[in-house]
Amino acid sequence: MKRGRLFILSGPAGAGKGTLRKRLFREVEDLEYSVSCTTRERRSDEAEGREYHYVSRDEFESMAGRGEFLEWAEVHGNCYGTKKSEVERVLNEGRDMALEIDVKGCRRVKDIVPEAIRIFITVQSLDELEDRLMERGTETPEQICVRLRNAAMEMKQSAEYDHVIMNDDVEQASRELVEIIKSYRNAGR
Ligand code: 5GP
Repeated sequence: MKRGRLFILSGPAGAGKGTLRKRLFREVEDLEYSVSCTTRERRSDEAEGREYHYVSRDEFESMAGRGEFLEWAEVHGNCYGTKKSEVERVLNEGRDMALEIDVKGCRRVKDIVPEAIRIFITVQSLDELEDRLMERGTETPEQICVRLRNAAMEMKQSAEYDHVIMNDDVEQASRELVEIIKSYRNAGR
């Protein structure tokens, strides 16, 4: 059986990856989402098993020690990891999967799954990111500073990616993302 395709959505915090990913799942059928494990605290609008599996640092370290992650990374002071068994199961069943992970994680996955398709989601400027993070209101000012510092480095990595989506207009960006996924499916790649 043909293995499924692995799409990696990546890019700086506040660029709208989460919003685009949610829209993508409403518009494209037969796509699975890999729910990562994280040590970050659950936000009030999040649910266990939907956005993330929320685990303690001890639990996370044990899982990492047992080799349960395809990749994991410390991002903005918290640990995040992609469950290897989930990704393997879905791809081996011939179904497509999307990951939403940071730039470091994307590199690691690409080393292990070279055929993975990398999509970078970004905005024009750091000012724009700052405005969005402030508006979102889910981080403290200190956390926003950390995320902006990381974003400045991450925004320089776009050349490594197969596709870059400039998310200045969410409708347009969302259409682009859907088209990218469909183009691989239509081409049978
Ligand atoms: P947030 O805390 O805003 O949900 O996510 C912070 C960052 O961690 C985002 O850039 C997100 O894409 C990234 N992230 C989420 N899950 C994973 C994962 O499993 N691995 C890696 N490397 N990054 C992740």
